[in-house]
Amino acid sequence: MISPSGIAGVSAALAAKRSGCDVLLVEKSVMLGGLATLGVVAIYLPLCDGEGKKISSGISEELLRRSIQYGHNTLPPEWLDGKGGAGVTTRYRTDFSVPEFVLALDELMEDEGIEILYDSVCCKLIMAGSVCEGVVIENKTGRRAYMGKIIVDTTGDLELMSKAGVTCAEGDNWLTYWAYATDLESMRNAVEKRDVYAGIKLRWLGATWNGDHTPPGSDLYIGTKSEEITKFILDGRKMLREEIEGEIGRSQAVIALPGMAQLRSGRRLGGYYELTQDDALKHFDDSIGCFSNFKKAGIVYEIPYRALITPEVDNMITAGRSLSASGEAWVFAKVIPACAVSGQAAGLAAAIAVKNGRGLAEVYVTDLQHKIAQAVGIIHF
Ligand SMILES: Cc1cc2nc3c(=O)[nH]c(=O)nc-3n(C[C@H](O)[C@H](O)[C@H](O)COP(=O)(O)OP(=O)(O)OC[C@H]3O[C@@H](n4cnc5c(N)ncnc54)[C@H](O)[C@@H]3O)c2cc1C
Repeated sequence: MISPSGIAGVSAALAAKRSGCDVLLVEKSVMLGGLATLGVVAIYLPLCDGEGKKISSGISEELLRRSIQYGHNTLPPEWLDGKGGAGVTTRYRTDFSVPEFVLALDELMEDEGIEILYDSVCCKLIMAGSVCEGVVIENKTGRRAYMGKIIVDTTGDLELMSKAGVTCAEGDNWLTYWAYATDLESMRNAVEKRDVYAGIKLRWLGATWNGDHTPPGSDLYIGTKSEEITKFILDGRKMLREEIEGEIGRSQAVIALPGMAQLRSGRRLGGYYELTQDDALKHFDDSIGCFSNFKKAGIVYEIPYRALITPEVDNMITAGRSLSASGEAWVFAKVIPACAVSGQAAGLAAAIAVKNGRGLAEVYVTDLQHKIAQAVGIIHF
């Protein structure tokens, strides 16, 4: 199995490897985690429904714990044991430190024996009809073909499935820029509290998740066109320059910029099923896990397996922010814990398909759900 390595890709790789598959994680940058690390999105949003019930577990919960293994942790006391309980309204979420999460992810991959290719780009598919037989990967060594039985497209933007010609939709992006900064006041606070993380601030500029605070007159950016991505990055950095002008010097400093474009929306799959806002609180027979509305308590979605696959290719599956969803359902399906839930399911489906020697659409959902349950995943809310 071959997959790129954001949170969804890492989760898919872990799940497939633990089910006995050979796995290759490919990453065009030099760290695992995608937007969660390179994109400095250092908030692991909730695994619970806001009413005290955990609705995401398995690898999603395991990665939350890994994100705070070496570093910063804002886990509420009610969720320290991961149990919550009726009436607990604080959410099971945490801030984490990006560099330390990266270190923990490397360690996890090493412990699990998962092969990684960093600084390597999946650039071309080897197709035979509706089957993708392998991926051409380009890196310093050159261009090489890697054959695989299942390709998990966790590029975040369906870079691979779109090359196979599958139906996709695209989303727009408001201007946003997140970066790490510090100032003397925070440092003083850190010394007083004896907590070094109190000295580091994540500065959020521009639009929030729902477009509020979009800078006046700002464009919408398409996340699948290089020129627009470049403009988005430059406009974001300009926004930061303008924000800090006059502040930087002896008392303020920017300490880390994101290493990838912080685009919330790229391509999403036109799958067998498109999850929409009307599916909130709906049960699906082929559910592979759940995610929540992180703003409003009690709003939970199940993810049908059909949102990860398409009739157009037999052995490619997606997970993470490119699954088949729209509107508010897509917004909430893209958060880190949800990407881990769909990633785990994609990896387990891949393992079943490889074992059975059949396509992904022929995976029996009951087999998949059985495997998810064995891996401590929650299937229905
Ligand atoms: C501004 C912003 C704020 C957000 N805030 C939060 C938040 O507070 N909490 C939260 O939980 N979520 C938040 N999110 C959403 C969340 O961070 C992402 O949706 C999620 O991390 C996406 O994970 P993914 O694995 O699907 O994709 P990605 O993180 O995009 O991972 C894709 C990976 O594939 C690699 N890749 C892509 N193409 C190739 C290729 N051709 N070859 C090799 N490698 C390739 C990329 O380098 C990357 O590592 C935010 C997102 C943004 C943009």
